[in-house]
Amino acid sequence: MTDATVLPDHDVIIVGAGFAGIYAIHKLRDQLGLDVQGFEAASGVGGTWYWNRYPGARVDIESVHYSYSFSEELQQEWHWTERFAAQPEILRYLNHVADRFDVRRSFAFDTRVTSVVWDDGNQLWVVTTDDGTVHRSRYFISAAGTLSVPKQLDFPGLENFEGQVLLTGNWQDDVDLSGRRVGVIGTGSSGIQVVSEVSKVAGELVVLQRTPNYATPVGNAPTDRAEEAADKARYRELREASRNHFVGVPYHEAEPSAMAVSAEERRSVFDDRWHRGGFRLVFDSFQDLLFNQESNDAAAEYIRERIRERVTDPATAELLCPKNYPYGSKRPPLETNYYEAFNRDNVHLVDVSGNPIAEITATGVRLADGTEHELDTLILATGFDAFTGPLMAMNITGRAGRPLSDAWAEGPQTFLGIAVSGFPNLFLITGPQSPSVLYNMPLAIEDHVDFTANAIQHMRAHGHTVMEATPAAQDDWVAQTDQAAEYTVVPKSGSSWYMGANVPGKPRKVLVYLGGAPAYRAICAQVENSGYAGFTFTSGRVLATA
Ligand SMILES: Cc1cc2nc3c(=O)[nH]c(=O)nc-3n(C[C@H](O)[C@H](O)[C@H](O)COP(=O)(O)OP(=O)(O)OC[C@H]3O[C@@H](n4cnc5c(N)ncnc54)[C@H](O)[C@@H]3O)c2cc1C
Repeated sequence: MTDATVLPDHDVIIVGAGFAGIYAIHKLRDQLGLDVQGFEAASGVGGTWYWNRYPGARVDIESVHYSYSFSEELQQEWHWTERFAAQPEILRYLNHVADRFDVRRSFAFDTRVTSVVWDDGNQLWVVTTDDGTVHRSRYFISAAGTLSVPKQLDFPGLENFEGQVLLTGNWQDDVDLSGRRVGVIGTGSSGIQVVSEVSKVAGELVVLQRTPNYATPVGNAPTDRAEEAADKARYRELREASRNHFVGVPYHEAEPSAMAVSAEERRSVFDDRWHRGGFRLVFDSFQDLLFNQESNDAAAEYIRERIRERVTDPATAELLCPKNYPYGSKRPPLETNYYEAFNRDNVHLVDVSGNPIAEITATGVRLADGTEHELDTLILATGFDAFTGPLMAMNITGRAGRPLSDAWAEGPQTFLGIAVSGFPNLFLITGPQSPSVLYNMPLAIEDHVDFTANAIQHMRAHGHTVMEATPAAQDDWVAQTDQAAEYTVVPKSGSSWYMGANVPGKPRKVLVYLGGAPAYRAICAQVENSGYAGFTFTSGRVLATA
């Protein structure tokens, strides 16, 4: 029986000190005046940009856009030195924001949340941390990230390797790889970035590739001061244009269909976007690349042609050409001289699609056919247990003792990617089934934190203590998310983390809302304006009914 006299220690507990947690602390503590406690497993702020310090780590969206918009002073005063900032600069930026808004004092660092249990009797969350301390709060906000739990490593024999093992998703130290024999497993976004850099210093670099990727040039350069001044002069307009674009970047040149123009015109548009970099080729060339297989095929063939031009050895070029899944159905990586790395004598591409890694030995990697590659260092760029990994790791238990792992046994079920039926007063920042990773993340995060803050404010203004998504609203949202995905090429990929397909045993279900940021934002605004249709509220100590 729960003790009915227990009161919360805090109004809100927030997990995570990345872009989301930093802004959530500021918003709820400084603007709403709530008592807020943050927990962060790392020793400092930064999230993704704290953990991913591998050589080559760099943002894929122009920094002028991949940054907070909530403070005009902040966006005016900060200067990015490069068009696409590298990890150290983004981490400096987040430290600056943390200092500027004095958020550090609200975080307990080096503290991992290990259990989060809803106490029905007292209508609060009971949160336990890895030092055994118990904390109670009325509201619980997960700002624990979408790509913050590296995928479990399942290579047989890994523990026997006598060399150095480095994980891109948890790379803390400056590591000198010069002259070393290095192997890289994983050719997604991180693998591609790390290969480009390590190829310049390694004695020998062996890239073990299972699936080639459609990587296109990022187009990085030092910041042009005149352009920066022009952007800052119309920042408000740029942010609005970002929020009104499918992926949250102020692109505006996409033509309707790649199939509606001549082959020459198509080629010229692709060339232009290829050279200008960023996500322009996939999201600002033709509007139907993700929706029309023929248009997608044309873009895919264009990229293969560019790869063949850049890689000297035709057999290597062919291995680097993706062929059996649509462009954009996996996260499109951006690169700087990735393909040229394979023209170096010290770099070897090894195809492990038909001849998989059988074992990691004491001295390197052995493939199924018995071939051995001797290595000093093994870099694992093997990806993340996206979206659900960080939530499952917190052991969240909702009403009637029901664990989230049980509620989501068939895949995540959310309302708007923010709320979960049966888990009252829980708010997910960029949770599963929100546009999140297909929406410039700092802006996606601000939208979710603002939604959450407005909802809490609404509850307080109306004397409500509990807010919960209804099962009907949740079912409807899950159906809408599934349906939006069906209009795209995304479900056609066999191994995309967008579909949960990169983790063995994970239910295959689309994890991201593919209807685009503008449609999503309109739906959220409608929910807010309707007084939170799709949610139930209760007041006092009465148990909420779903
Ligand atoms: C290599 C890489 C490159 C990326 N590039 C881009 C890009 O170009 N554009 C883009 O839009 N997005 C990009 N992303 C996505 C990126 O994650 C987001 O842009 C953004 O940084 C997410 O911020 P967040 O605060 O939501 O989560 P995170 O930055 O992941 O922070 C979550 C924090 O929560 C902490 N945490 C998790 N669980 C617990 C727990 N149980 N207890 C205590 N602490 C916990 C973690 O330690 C972490 O510090 C990239 C991601 C990666 C990994």
